[in-house]
Amino acid sequence: MLANKTAVVTGSTSGIGLGCARAFAAKGASVVINGLGDADEIEKTRAAVEADFGVRCTYSGANMLSGDEIAAMISDAEKEFGSVDILVNNAGIQHVSPVDEFPVDKWDAIIAINLSSAFHAVRAALPGMKARGWGRVINTASAHALVASPYKSAYVAAKHGIAGLTKTVALEVAEQGITVNAICPGYVWTPLVERQIPDTMKARNMTEEEVKKDVLLKAQPTKQFVTIEQVAAYATFLCSDDAASITGSILPIDGGWTAQ
Ligand code: NAD
Repeated sequence: MLANKTAVVTGSTSGIGLGCARAFAAKGASVVINGLGDADEIEKTRAAVEADFGVRCTYSGANMLSGDEIAAMISDAEKEFGSVDILVNNAGIQHVSPVDEFPVDKWDAIIAINLSSAFHAVRAALPGMKARGWGRVINTASAHALVASPYKSAYVAAKHGIAGLTKTVALEVAEQGITVNAICPGYVWTPLVERQIPDTMKARNMTEEEVKKDVLLKAQPTKQFVTIEQVAAYATFLCSDDAASITGSILPIDGGWTAQ
């Protein structure tokens, strides 16, 4: 389904991004993975994509804090593979703290990585997509693009922001064969969620089990974590021709969270 297509997935050294990269590779796409981490582990991850799916996979170390590095990641991918047809803006970080104690550097980093990086990547990738008359931009937003939770001011602001960016870009390219959508997962068990448990325990004076049950899964009527594979399958569907009329959509996959 995605043979002859190239996908760039930001923040794909772990979690949802890696799940999307592997799902696209399974459909025949060449993929560029990106993200932080131990160089040997990343090389193993990259090589496994090639070995498991028989496609080409390269790694970009672009830091999502840098607009210049993001632009270079897209142009390097275009040089290497001839096109960037699918762009998943997925890199993201979290910090949990009351707003009046929120560290300013954390605010700036969350807005840069979770929101501005998508602007830089879209800006760099759209000209090629327009020239070819086909493209898929998928922004990993969150249920927090639709509703808020306390102590996550920067994250919720960035995710609401990416919903606005998604709609705006979708309208700009609606007649050019390019769709732009945001996927809004509820809680998915990934390193990002695991890492916020200690801060949430502190902010709410709770045990780990209480945080899982009374904070995370409390919001999710199914009482189940969404799986990485479910999100990746949703993203893969959005890349199909059957999904050509889905654009500018803010799409929950949240076990009923935002139905409440
Ligand atoms: P994760 O921590 O497993 O993955 C985050 C990725 O972003 C990693 O590859 C990391 O290296 C990369 N990254 C972080 N800072 C970076 C930087 N400066 N430059 C380049 N890469 C950077 O987390 P995840 O849960 O898979 O999160 C992926 C996306 O999904 C995020 O945007 C997150 O907000 C969103 N999301 C996650 C959940 C959840 O419950 N896990 C729910 C909704 C939305």
